[in-house]
Amino acid sequence: MVSTLNAVTTETPFHPHTLCATITVLPKPGKDPSECSSYRPISLLNSDVKILARILADRLKQFLPGLIHPDQVGFIPGREARDGTQRAINAVSAARRSGQHLLLLSTDAEKAFDRVLWPFLFQTLRTLGLGPGFLAWVQALYTLPKARIKVNGALSASFQISNGTRQGCPLSPLLFALSLEPFLEAVRRNTAIPGMKGAYLEHKVTAYADDLLFFLTDVRQSLPAVLGTFESYGKLAGLKINMTKSEILNVSVPDGEAARLRDTFPFHWCDIQMRYLGIWLTPTLQELFALNFLPLLGTIRDDLILWNNKLLSWMGRVAVFKMNVLPHVLYLLQTVPVALPGSFFKSFRSEMIKFVWAGRRPRLRLSVLYRTKEAGGLALPDLLTYYRVTQLNRLVDWSSTEGRRGWLDLEGADLTVPLWTVPWLPHRAIPTAVRTHPLVGNTLRLWDRLKFSHALSSSPSPLLPLTSNPSFSPGVRPTLCRHLAEGSRLLVLQVAHIPTQEALTSRNDLPPLSFMDRFNFQQIHHYLSSLPEGHKLTRALSPFERFCSLGLALSHGISTLYSLLQSRDSEPPLFMGIWETELNLTISDKEWKTTLFLTHHGTRAVRYHETSYKILTRWYYTPLRRFQFTGTSDPTCWRCGKALGSYLHIWWYCSLLQPYWSWVGEVITEVTDISLEHAPQTFLLLLTGQPTASFKKSVALRLLLAARHLISRHWRPQSVPSLREWISQVDEIFRIEERIAAREDSTPEFYQNWYYWLEFVSSTSLRRQLELELTQTPP
Ligand SMILES: [Zn+2]
Repeated sequence: MVSTLNAVTTETPFHPHTLCATITVLPKPGKDPSECSSYRPISLLNSDVKILARILADRLKQFLPGLIHPDQVGFIPGREARDGTQRAINAVSAARRSGQHLLLLSTDAEKAFDRVLWPFLFQTLRTLGLGPGFLAWVQALYTLPKARIKVNGALSASFQISNGTRQGCPLSPLLFALSLEPFLEAVRRNTAIPGMKGAYLEHKVTAYADDLLFFLTDVRQSLPAVLGTFESYGKLAGLKINMTKSEILNVSVPDGEAARLRDTFPFHWCDIQMRYLGIWLTPTLQELFALNFLPLLGTIRDDLILWNNKLLSWMGRVAVFKMNVLPHVLYLLQTVPVALPGSFFKSFRSEMIKFVWAGRRPRLRLSVLYRTKEAGGLALPDLLTYYRVTQLNRLVDWSSTEGRRGWLDLEGADLTVPLWTVPWLPHRAIPTAVRTHPLVGNTLRLWDRLKFSHALSSSPSPLLPLTSNPSFSPGVRPTLCRHLAEGSRLLVLQVAHIPTQEALTSRNDLPPLSFMDRFNFQQIHHYLSSLPEGHKLTRALSPFERFCSLGLALSHGISTLYSLLQSRDSEPPLFMGIWETELNLTISDKEWKTTLFLTHHGTRAVRYHETSYKILTRWYYTPLRRFQFTGTSDPTCWRCGKALGSYLHIWWYCSLLQPYWSWVGEVITEVTDISLEHAPQTFLLLLTGQPTASFKKSVALRLLLAARHLISRHWRPQSVPSLREWISQVDEIFRIEERIAAREDSTPEFYQNWYYWLEFVSSTSLRRQLELELTQTPP
């Protein structure tokens, strides 16, 4: 394959069949199915072509941030949809605050990916500096490709394709982004299209693939200019915008002027809201919550009703929440960073509880389920923490020195201090304009609450700025700053470790420090000594402060910060303490780790994870527990009717159950040579003293899991599981793992592992035992 793909660069084209794609059409929701344009065409390509496309995409991707202006946020490493939406929301906010006349124009490019003309595409790629080898590969992928359309299972005749990047090819969005760059550059350079003024930049347009959003001021001039640029670019590149499907949202253009424009330009003029990248944009920030978040609750409710109709295990329900609900909510939290009221979290929580417990009474606290699996929970998403995390992630972005995110420039416009200083300034030094800013103020209020309660920082912090700090009026001389820091930001961190003026040394590569520089340094120290609790300035940075001090956007920011906030909850869950009291044992952290590990990773037959977790968290209602709830029911054991039906009795000590456990232990020894101590912690908490890694793979563990599972199945009746039932329960695990082994090509190892069990179940002694059991069991 390597030689085939390499040969492509040296004039050996692909075989025509290689390049033939099957186009499948997906109906767009809510559109008229009798219209051609109501379908989204996806090209299903041959695997070898896709492999090459993926390789090329991976190679190209790393250069895209340098080739493509930050205006484009889609499919570029390090950029996200939220960079576009936060910019739009900030543009609205800035227009409201500064009185600039702003109009948002969201254009609909008709089948943008399919229309890109190849000569233009290749000329753009050459101009951007892509090498001949790389271009040869791209060209080979685009030389005379054919396609057939599949409708209702029938394939059309094949036809030639002569333009467009294929939807379904991993290279396609990257090529599209590159082909769009000349157009966006033309918009940026066009002085007839003035944009929104930020702190340092002018903001004209943001793009996520073919979803373009223009920030237009001076609209009588800029609107025709944008259309003109579209037209001349369209002739070269093939892009065409659909005027009637393109939308305009008037943010702050006076009504009279807007009405005149409305008559001239046949766009769809939105009254109060406009859809962009899946969220609603509005002319003021007040409606953002109501329009975006409230409908989300309804969507989640409807979605969960559909899931409710399916037979789901309890853990399945948790998984649905994690995989189905969380991504929607997270997207919205990130793209629309507004303040959320407590009532929203309350409604969300109640939907979650209702669904996870299938409308029944919850058996475990939410705080337990929120924990990670390693800490005794099920990693159920905690919305409030996610909200805090998305806000804190913005704070990390404020500290970024990269200057790649347009929204930061808009968010920081007309604040008298730079955003990066805000979290670390003394309370009194923060200007009112910052506190009353609708987005910044909200993030800051949350930060003020969380920084102490979650030990994210302390005041004052070593990250306290010396440059741009209103409470340090002398400021920092640039000549001094250069000796102490890279860049133009000077923090206490970079000064605090130099105790005296004498200890301050000049850098060799710079002109030596002057008298004034040294005087300035003294001023700094005087300022620091005037701060209350100034001794804290030399402490080590907290983990969160470290993230902020990097000056970079955090990779995997959401999950990193989520675990940081979660790690604050270090109290072990309640059930652990109850086990220790009842067993009269001290169980070490390492042992709990083993228990939790084997609970969640014991076998690939996942339903046993659920039973294991339920046993561990004392999920099951025993007679004693019921009695404690009701005060009237009988607290004695359902089985023997003699002893108190406590958790340990029902699971272990019951006189009718003891022979079962002894016998399970004996078979385990016979089959696996592992002899387990006859004790509840061995059988119920899986604390066997065996090395965890090998016990995880052993048949002994499977035999144990099957035996435990059967007791939960025999919960209410007064019976004890039989040998026959146990064997068929083990057989179920065997068959599930057998299928997995076949899929993963590890069948020989699988049979080797189970050899002695197979020998055991086919032995005559077992058959005799089973016959005996049959005669003893009452009909
Ligand atoms: Zn009993």
